Amino acid sequence: MTVLGGIRTVTGHIGSQPTWDCEACGQPWPCPAFQAIPPDQLTTSTLIPAMALLVPSAIRDLRGRPEGPEPPEIVKRFLWFLPLNDDEARAIALRLR
Ligand SMILES: [Zn+2]
Repeated sequence: MTVLGGIRTVTGHIGSQPTWDCEACGQPWPCPAFQAIPPDQLTTSTLIPAMALLVPSAIRDLRGRPEGPEPPEIVKRFLWFLPLNDDEARAIALRLR
């Protein structure tokens, strides 16, 4: 099963490439409903490797679009549960893309 397929099965809320808007609610994913899933159902130790796999695809899809986010902004969006500053987000973006 793909990472996206696994997250879809668990949460019902998943970003749809290439826009990364949620299939279920149409919000930019990770959408508010996804972010509200309690940590006992979706733990940080599950999220970090999943997001590490998804962020490079999201950067490829989203950067360069008109008004599109920069890679560090994409990192912060997908790793919302980590307290990243701009320098850390930039460093992660460089590692992941
Ligand atoms: Zn959603």
